[in-house]
Amino acid sequence: MLYNSPYDWYYDFTVERDYDRCIRCLACVTQCSYEATRYDEERDLVYTLDDHCVGCHRCDAFCPTDCITVRPTERNVRPNNNWSPVHVKALYKQASTGAIIVTGMGNNKPFKNYWDHIVLDACQVTNPSIDPLREPMELRTYLGRKPDNINAIDPRAKASLKTTLGPQLILEVPVMFTAMSYGSINYYVCESLARAAVEVGTYWNTGEGGLPRSLYQYGHRTIVQCASGRFGVSPEYLNAGAAIEIKIGQGAKPGIGGHLPGNKVLKRISETRMIPEGSDALSPAPHHDIYSIEDLRQLIYALKEATRYEKPVAVKIAAVHNSAAIASGIVRAGADIVVLDGFRGGTGAAPKVIRDNVGIPIELAIAAVDQRLREEGIRNHAALVAAGGFRDSSDVIKAIALGADAVYIGTPALMTMGCTLCMQCPTGKCAWGITTNDPKLMKRVNPDIGAERAANLLKAWAHEIQEMLGLMGINAIESLRGNRDRLRGVGLEDWELEILGIKPAGA
Ligand code: SF4
Ligand code: SF4
Ligand code: SF4
Repeated sequence: MLYNSPYDWYYDFTVERDYDRCIRCLACVTQCSYEATRYDEERDLVYTLDDHCVGCHRCDAFCPTDCITVRPTERNVRPNNNWSPVHVKALYKQASTGAIIVTGMGNNKPFKNYWDHIVLDACQVTNPSIDPLREPMELRTYLGRKPDNINAIDPRAKASLKTTLGPQLILEVPVMFTAMSYGSINYYVCESLARAAVEVGTYWNTGEGGLPRSLYQYGHRTIVQCASGRFGVSPEYLNAGAAIEIKIGQGAKPGIGGHLPGNKVLKRISETRMIPEGSDALSPAPHHDIYSIEDLRQLIYALKEATRYEKPVAVKIAAVHNSAAIASGIVRAGADIVVLDGFRGGTGAAPKVIRDNVGIPIELAIAAVDQRLREEGIRNHAALVAAGGFRDSSDVIKAIALGADAVYIGTPALMTMGCTLCMQCPTGKCAWGITTNDPKLMKRVNPDIGAERAANLLKAWAHEIQEMLGLMGINAIESLRGNRDRLRGVGLEDWELEILGIKPAGA
């Protein structure tokens, strides 16, 4: 056979099968949504076309005799210190297709991960640690504008406060589910996240996809997003949630808009987004009514007005090199919450070249923004929520010690429902039933199980955060916020320590 391009015979995975153990149950055939695994009835043979395999691991997870092994392969890529297999394959692919390479999930380039270079300090003798099993540990977190000081009507009557507190989100765990739109994830995943948020006492976020009518019942634990496409935005929608988030940027694709292909815009999704069925849902890169901080202020106050000043308004930006100055402007524009999304944040679909080459690590952005807001004396005017690449409870607690009030997670929430990070979200064929609207595939997520597992993750992290607070001799998460003295850097350069505002280990 004559090939036009070497791309045709480059592939990423090889599926091996132990035929002595294979019982021809065909589970691997029915579970493979990429049509890589097939059954030849005549020969009674189950086989896999390796060039179709995306390494989603659905087949080996469901093989009852455990006879499948999915291996990464670098087949046919000639070693070259300058040309990595990723570069070589991408080049051949683009020569064949003439198209942008679109991918899902977060930046997976081997940039330095600062969380792995930061350690927590622990109490020993003079300032003893606290036993979280025997003493109360407070994880409750309030997100919103805080007063600069507390004023009593009569300074002698301590109980009569003049100070009023603006609207706040109340989290029992300082972790929320980040914005993922209905359409990019399907209804069952949205329902799972909503129910988990209610169970744990945190919030989930609609993303820019609107809120399906049947999920209004979870509105008190829902953050409704208002993005440049304004999909699904109406007074009813704004009032249905507990807070409103204006999306300016997203960590996985700073500076560009969103695109949900028309083939994913099915009837219910089109109704929720308020666009015609089958039409592409394109959200522009900028909001066409925001070209300055003053314009942003107008939108913030329009949304506050629309919700009778009863709900906090958040503004989400991608973490970029001048995030600190931008965040300062956002706070001065009246936002109650600033959301910073780092470059490891996930995406349903983004040009790979942008996902992998734009933005900065969230660790540096948190430190820079917190520092700037403190220096300007406006840190308490808004809460700071960090997003983008949190992997476990230690990343969360380090983010809070660096200056965040709470964090958002997206990828870990999807992983509780089976996501194997295969990055095929834009194809709409997610074998785990998450980023697909195929009626058959989406049934692979059971909201009862999805909600339970997502809630379990946050409960487990809450226990671990309590343990870590205890070892630092701290009994309330609020006391840790921005307490960088409890962090030390290992293997970091001076300039990195300076931006992070932490001392080196041993100091
Ligand atoms: S189920 Fe996934 S891992 Fe298995 S053959 Fe299909 S694409 Fe490959
Ligand atoms: S799932 Fe396992 S046992 Fe069943 S047909 Fe596939 S390889 Fe064979
Ligand atoms: S959501 Fe599905 S398609 Fe996307 S990375 Fe996870 S398993 Fe793969």
